[in-house]
Amino acid sequence: METNSKIFLNSFPVPGIRNINKKNLLNLISRAGTISRSQLANISGLTPPSVSKITRVMIQDGILVEQGTIDSTGKAGRKEINLSVNPESAYVIGISLTANRPKIVLSNAVGETLDTKDLSDLKFSEIDKTIGQIISRVKDIVFDNSIDKKKLLGIGVSAALSLGSTEDVLFSLPLGWKGVSLRDRLEKELNLPVKIEARASALLKAEISQLEIPKDIYLINVALNTGVSAFIGGGIFNPMLNGFGSISHLILDENGPKCLDCGRKGCFETLASGISLVKFAETLKMKKESKDRQLHNLISQADGGNMKIKKLFFNAGKYLGQAIDSIKILFNPSMLIVAGEVGRQNDYAEGVNFKLNELGYKNIENFLRFSQITSEEAAKSVALDEFIFAKSFDVDQLKIASDR
Ligand SMILES: [Zn+2]
Repeated sequence: METNSKIFLNSFPVPGIRNINKKNLLNLISRAGTISRSQLANISGLTPPSVSKITRVMIQDGILVEQGTIDSTGKAGRKEINLSVNPESAYVIGISLTANRPKIVLSNAVGETLDTKDLSDLKFSEIDKTIGQIISRVKDIVFDNSIDKKKLLGIGVSAALSLGSTEDVLFSLPLGWKGVSLRDRLEKELNLPVKIEARASALLKAEISQLEIPKDIYLINVALNTGVSAFIGGGIFNPMLNGFGSISHLILDENGPKCLDCGRKGCFETLASGISLVKFAETLKMKKESKDRQLHNLISQADGGNMKIKKLFFNAGKYLGQAIDSIKILFNPSMLIVAGEVGRQNDYAEGVNFKLNELGYKNIENFLRFSQITSEEAAKSVALDEFIFAKSFDVDQLKIASDR
């Protein structure tokens, strides 16, 4: 049986085979919720005595808890004890930095949200002040929930990033950021490791974590701007770093509006992104506000039945349908996921389906999905993957911390 744990467990250095086994088991247990030792042995390929030995230590360390009893299948009458991750063994923080509803999320070791703090009052253009406010609200959320700081493992950030960003220096058109060293300041002032991910990649990680079996996925996040991320052949591609397979400036109508970014006419950004919708709506004489406010208004008007605005979304969605056809031809992923507040808007989604139908696609629902994952869940996923399941998580850390 293939499990998605492999996605997170390949290709990173770990100190030794025993630790790999620990992490592998921890990952499997967490994904399963509860699982028996014999099921663990089957899935992991470890011997039953190894599974027993490793899990015994993890129970002693407080990382795992035993849960209830179930009838084991096959052997009549025999009872088996299930294992699950102790939710209170570790905590992480997720920060979602988008123009639309930015938030801080506190999560326990099994991904349950314990608390959130809203950041929508922040003025992202005032960079120093904004970072100071984020830091003080992270401190607040830790204090308010009486979290033991030794159990707080790290911070995952999902941000609306633009081309040219690295983890150290962020560029973001929607936030108005040009070369912001967010990670450095957060790490210094909060004394915690920080992982930063472009929103499309964060959403993709969250989607992958919900899959039983990994498959090739191409994800398109349509908000004010458009971001894409792909999981192909066992690795996640981040177009913000390597420019892989982005559709942002794919020409879809050579008679379309001129793009200020790529300088050409009728690319995806000018026809199907949130910014393009705001620009089209300006010709309908809407109230002048910030772009994200305007986009918000447009979405609620379309949802509220305004026919003109509904038509705008439908037409923009048709262009995404056309772009999806190109993605299918170039990469042929087994699944395409459309995310973001524009992407999941009903009329937009209908436009996508309409175009794909017109292009002759059958059983569209078999390869196309509209993501319901929010940006804050995506930020949480970045933190859980990085600090609970992947390289930085040292399962012995908690024991050492409590021995001090
Ligand atoms: Zn362009």
